[in-house]
Amino acid sequence: MANENHVIIAGGGASGLCAAIAAARDGAKVTVIEKTDSCGKKLSMTGNGRCNLANLNISADDYNPNARDRMKKWLKRFGVNEAADFFTSLGLVVISENGYLYPISGQATSVVSVLVNECKRLGVEFFFNEQVKQITKEDNGEFTVKTSVGVHKGKAVILSVGGLAGPKSTGSTGDGYYICEKLGMTKKDTYPALVSLNSEDETLPKESGVRALARVNFLIGDSVIASEYGEVQITGKGISGIPVMQSSGTVAEHLSKGRPVTASINFFPGYNDEEFDGLVKAMLELPGERRLSELLDGFCNSNINEMILKRMKLSGNMKVRNVGESMISCVLHKYRALHIKISGFGDYKKAQVTRGGISLGDLDDTLQSKKTPGVFVVGELCDVDGRCGGYNLQWAWTSGYIAGEAASCL
Ligand SMILES: Cc1cc2nc3c(=O)[nH]c(=O)nc-3n(C[C@H](O)[C@H](O)[C@H](O)COP(=O)(O)OP(=O)(O)OC[C@H]3O[C@@H](n4cnc5c(N)ncnc54)[C@H](O)[C@@H]3O)c2cc1C
Repeated sequence: MANENHVIIAGGGASGLCAAIAAARDGAKVTVIEKTDSCGKKLSMTGNGRCNLANLNISADDYNPNARDRMKKWLKRFGVNEAADFFTSLGLVVISENGYLYPISGQATSVVSVLVNECKRLGVEFFFNEQVKQITKEDNGEFTVKTSVGVHKGKAVILSVGGLAGPKSTGSTGDGYYICEKLGMTKKDTYPALVSLNSEDETLPKESGVRALARVNFLIGDSVIASEYGEVQITGKGISGIPVMQSSGTVAEHLSKGRPVTASINFFPGYNDEEFDGLVKAMLELPGERRLSELLDGFCNSNINEMILKRMKLSGNMKVRNVGESMISCVLHKYRALHIKISGFGDYKKAQVTRGGISLGDLDDTLQSKKTPGVFVVGELCDVDGRCGGYNLQWAWTSGYIAGEAASCL
């Protein structure tokens, strides 16, 4: 017979540890079952080892469109202020860098430590190297959690086993999808997100890559499916950088459905049409005896110049006068819409988050399964993915805390 309010947590990552603390603080007996030999392996790699744990500039719009309505409510209950207070209550000093929140230690491992320390202080029991395989609801309302080692029994189960993104060593192998489907929940198709995009375009710079501030629009035909501004990186293999990562989940989804996607890069995002035409006019008025490469020297990054000339099959040695005004104008306008055909996307190992997952329609406002009450689904396992910048960990804290509190009351 399980303890009155014994909460079993499957997965000791970001959302699971947060859920464990919320439930234990509310008086529940809590057990965390973790597949690897320690908690928070992925968490300790986040933010390049510094852990960007939340963001002061947050809204529901920072998440995938189908999560936004629900996210408004969830962020009201446990948003960035509650996350900051939560970490203060754990003794973690958090600082803001332009709204991006980090531990002052500069070490993601500090975040893991304070979460685990609090769990231990609250008497949370840990089982390591134990993989949750199946959850069954018994006739008496209790749950039997079958693992690779044995069985655990509890009044409520929180599934916080993560998704598929990140190195496999962090435990992200997507076990939760099968477990949830067996309990009658629906899985939305999954794709790698916050990842670089591949291209087989032969004009991409082979040796040294290019970094430049730009607006990147992703197009299917003439329709824009995603648009982001920031530093884009172009290498011989494809494109990356923040604007590409932010759009990658959407692009991956379309590509997987067989829709061809093209990136259109604007290296002059601060100019409107009229201003850019004025700039082109001024360039055309420069003395014509200079070579094309000389004309472009002061116009843009030399690697981008080389790439554009290669695409236009023009030699930089040509005299501007001989190239002709209309062709020069055509070359210069390419800098506002450099088209790169996207052929694929990085795999889950390289992605930071999983797009898709357990349908939010199957979960109530406390993240509890509607089909199997008593089972909660939190974190990356849900059909929720956020932008790069602390939004995914915010979701782990938000969902973990809400579910932990609710599970402790069952
Ligand atoms: C390189 C990288 C950098 C990132 N940087 C940031 C960042 O700076 N800011 C940000 O907001 N987000 C970042 N993210 C995303 C963030 O790490 C995830 O969104 C977050 O960790 C998800 O939390 P979770 O609890 O759902 O899953 P996880 O943290 O992945 O935890 C899941 C846990 O469950 C365990 N597990 C899996 N299967 C089982 C099973 N069957 N039985 C028992 N245990 C199991 C795993 O071993 C793991 O410990 C980054 C991701 C990566 C890969």
